[in-house]
Amino acid sequence: MNASIPLLQELQKLEALGEAASPQQRQRMTDIRAQVPVPVLAHYNRLVVNRCKPVAEVRRGICGACHLRLAAWVRQAANDDDLHICENCGAYLVFVPEEAPTRPTAKSVRAKQARLALIRAAVAH
Ligand SMILES: [Zn+2]
Repeated sequence: MNASIPLLQELQKLEALGEAASPQQRQRMTDIRAQVPVPVLAHYNRLVVNRCKPVAEVRRGICGACHLRLAAWVRQAANDDDLHICENCGAYLVFVPEEAPTRPTAKSVRAKQARLALIRAAVAH
């Protein structure tokens, strides 16, 4: 992940507080703005001005800001160190690791068997 991404995510969260931000939080926003490279921050600011979500999480190949599917090459680039932006809405993309498929637990298997038994009993009558 690019080093600017966690900073931009934090900045987005802090800015969402608006007037409710504490003096410490305002200071942190100023610090973050000083740490992020100028062109990266300029693009971020443009998105904010255009009322777009500047940082979007990607889940299952879908941009969390505009909800459109990203091109395959963008999804394949998820693990490199570059900044990636959504081709559609321009949001900085944060690639969330795909959740591992959950294996059925003994409890969920028992619950499923119980449901099936109920259905069988209902059908039999
Ligand atoms: Zn998008």
